[in-house]
Amino acid sequence: MPHIFCVANQKGGVGKTTTSVNLAAALHQAGQRTLLVDLDPQGNATMGSGIDKRKLDRSIYHLLIGLAGVGEARVKSPTNGYDILPANRDLAGAEIELVGLERREKRLREVLATAADDYDFVLIDCAPSLSLLTLNGLCSAHGVIIPMQCEYYALEGLAELVNSIKKVHANLNRDLKIIGLLRVMFDPRVTLQQQVSSQLESRFGDKVFQAVVPRNVRLAEAPSHGMAGVNYDPASRGAQAYFAFATELVERARTF
Ligand code: ADP
Ligand code: MG
Repeated sequence: MPHIFCVANQKGGVGKTTTSVNLAAALHQAGQRTLLVDLDPQGNATMGSGIDKRKLDRSIYHLLIGLAGVGEARVKSPTNGYDILPANRDLAGAEIELVGLERREKRLREVLATAADDYDFVLIDCAPSLSLLTLNGLCSAHGVIIPMQCEYYALEGLAELVNSIKKVHANLNRDLKIIGLLRVMFDPRVTLQQQVSSQLESRFGDKVFQAVVPRNVRLAEAPSHGMAGVNYDPASRGAQAYFAFATELVERARTF
């Protein structure tokens, strides 16, 4: 049975996709059989994996609606090595079509169950919303990884997300827990960021990952080459942070 983790935060532009892609690539390099699920109609994780979202025959959309099986939709990332269930704009339609289907929040869970033996880790890159798609992600997962920037409003947004996770835990998925908070785009020279970072540590204790991802331009450049930062420039500080994060996560996963 793989560890299934959602990378979620209802805010956009906080580093969910960068974290999903780099973590998946780092886990793959570490010999873990890894599947990345792109659950955002923007398809950024798909593009960042070197796959053209405009040229997909089958995508996660077809899986959720029951028009294809995992074997027909999954592709291997030519640049990053892991398997991916890709996404594009079609997925926005799934949001509406799912409403009419039975067990509409459990569709992804059922899809992933059919590939459970193939992987050690499944990472789900969620859209910046608490939509039915994200709910499908949360219903499929054992845990949530929350990337966050150490900004003034970060804690407020976090409270909202934690509440949603609690509701899903209580009503739909007893397995779900918060695996940890990952500080991303961190700039230690900014006093406010240091302060928010310490607040996070005192409030959430060891739920805060030790690895901290710095603001690093190489991570931002990598997607335009269809690559994860860890493969585009493995020596960069951003890549090194994601390698450390992957190691930390594998350690932590042993205790589950
Ligand atoms: P989300 O998936 O939450 O919307 P992204 O991962 O797409 O966020 O990141 C938003 C933007 O910030 C992207 O342009 C990405 O390249 C950039 N970015 C993400 N993490 C970093 C980082 N550590 N350093 C510099 N830029 C980053
Ligand atoms: Mg994204």
